[in-house]
Amino acid sequence: MRKLLSVIALTAVIGTAWASDLPNVRILAVGGTIAGTAASSTQASYKAGQLGVETLIAAVPEIKNVADVKGEQFLNIGSGNLTDDNILALAKRVNEVAADASTDAIVITHGTDTLEETAWFLNLTAKTTKPIVMVGAMRPATAISADGPANLLDAVRCAADSQSVGKGVMIVMNNEIHNARDVTKMDVTEVSAFQAPTAGAIGRIAAGKVVYFKSSTRPHTAQSEFDVSKIEKLPRVDIIYSHLGDDGVLAQAAIESGAKGIVNAGTGNGTVSKHLFPTLEKAVKDGIVVVRASRVPSGVVTTSKPDWDKAGFISSGSLNPQKSRILLQLALTKTQDKKVIEKMFEKY
Ligand code: ASP
Repeated sequence: MRKLLSVIALTAVIGTAWASDLPNVRILAVGGTIAGTAASSTQASYKAGQLGVETLIAAVPEIKNVADVKGEQFLNIGSGNLTDDNILALAKRVNEVAADASTDAIVITHGTDTLEETAWFLNLTAKTTKPIVMVGAMRPATAISADGPANLLDAVRCAADSQSVGKGVMIVMNNEIHNARDVTKMDVTEVSAFQAPTAGAIGRIAAGKVVYFKSSTRPHTAQSEFDVSKIEKLPRVDIIYSHLGDDGVLAQAAIESGAKGIVNAGTGNGTVSKHLFPTLEKAVKDGIVVVRASRVPSGVVTTSKPDWDKAGFISSGSLNPQKSRILLQLALTKTQDKKVIEKMFEKY
């Protein structure tokens, strides 16, 4: 009886009971093109974040053969409009859902524009070994050859597969499995948009079967030191996109806007132009943490010029500017010590 009462109480908290013996997968929907609609099947312009999670699930009845799913509408917006507060709240919700013993895995539907940033944030803050698989689509749900339904089915397959336990946050798109750390959006329209240019995909969904080739070598999720449970606001970190003729005016604007950290998306191997250098050098002296990343989409930013090391700039390694920004925000929730933050960039 007591057991029955606690099941009833738990059901009241998490919704209706799971229906089958298949893995229980909670689908959190955030919006994006996967939930987007256009006026016709060929129209290029469409509105992201229109369909509700139940409609997305209902469009893929095959999911029922793979997992017992429950949907939850977290948000329904284009991912380019997401804020730091949104991803902080999402991380907290993911941790609540993951803590529910009856949930085996989580799938998150999300716009593709900032998918890699949310995935990376969750990869560093979700305190669980349960699979967390993120998914989007490049074509709206109404398109003649929409990629969303197949991507969603693959994401659920990946999340429900026992091989996915402890692998950190992954993005499944276009039959490929990517880890959150290395993947980036490489094309503005193609269904093959998601790639990991330096490290490669970690697996595939081949004819419905989940096949892994490798795992991330970096700590993530349950092993990560970052805990957002008591954090209400993320520190401001700005990215400065460098270019020929960069004279530091945008870096100065970031400093004046109260940035606690700056990521320089430099040319080449994280180059800081001699015109920009004095602004960033002074920023470090004033207590702002500066990371040298690169606007080049692949490769590893290394320490190079002694002047840059002497100024206290941190190299981003193989993290792109937008992922460096996320890591720097989380690092700054713990410390302002450049040496400690530098170690975090080497570690994660
Ligand atoms: N603008 C959309 C978004 O990121 C693009 C997409 O989902 O592909 O929400």
